Amino acid sequence: LKELEEYASEHNVPIVHKEVSDLLKVLLKLQKPKRILEVGCAIGYSSILFASVLDEDVEIITVERNEKMIEKAKENIKLAGFENNITILEGDAEELLKEVEGSFDMIFMDAAKGQYTEYYNPVKKLLKNGAVLMSDNVLFKGMVANKELVQRNKRGIVNDLMDFNKTLSEDKDFETTFIPMGDGVAISIKR
Ligand code: SAH
Ligand code: MG
Repeated sequence: LKELEEYASEHNVPIVHKEVSDLLKVLLKLQKPKRILEVGCAIGYSSILFASVLDEDVEIITVERNEKMIEKAKENIKLAGFENNITILEGDAEELLKEVEGSFDMIFMDAAKGQYTEYYNPVKKLLKNGAVLMSDNVLFKGMVANKELVQRNKRGIVNDLMDFNKTLSEDKDFETTFIPMGDGVAISIKR
């Protein structure tokens, strides 16, 4: 993981922030999910992190569309010895989420921020009752919380994230809390 952190910082791969990864580890140890779905694998850092703190039989399915990332993630997952735990679904999340089978104890939403609302319904359907949805980057460098920070060319994504956050917080099927940590994390429990 240390090597991946260095690689990510050198190559500008947006892996989960350190404090968020600590939060994830604590949550995972509390909830002990057996089946996790991740939307946005990148180089496999968060998947490997999940596998490394959970039981040997944990199953992680992670979606990624960028071929270079997929190649790197496969290499890293193999090196970490988690080929039997982590499966990469290659392609676009919007398409693939409709095809994923079974249900999940936890879903980590961490792909294109402007598309979270499109993933919302399929993701909700895939969660078991009592399962956890963790959505990363929901405050997007503070821009979602403070208008004065919004960069002109990021306005579209900020609006999309605002819609997503509103949908989440108003959805009575979820108990949700927003944590201003890292790039902003929303934790939701499906009732
Ligand atoms: N979860 C990773 C970081 C993911 S970065 C970690 O913390 O280690 C976000 C990734 O989502 C990028 O690699 C990007 O290629 C991928 N992505 C963005 N939109 C996507 C989509 N619609 N379908 C599949 N992958 C997508
Ligand atoms: Mg992220």
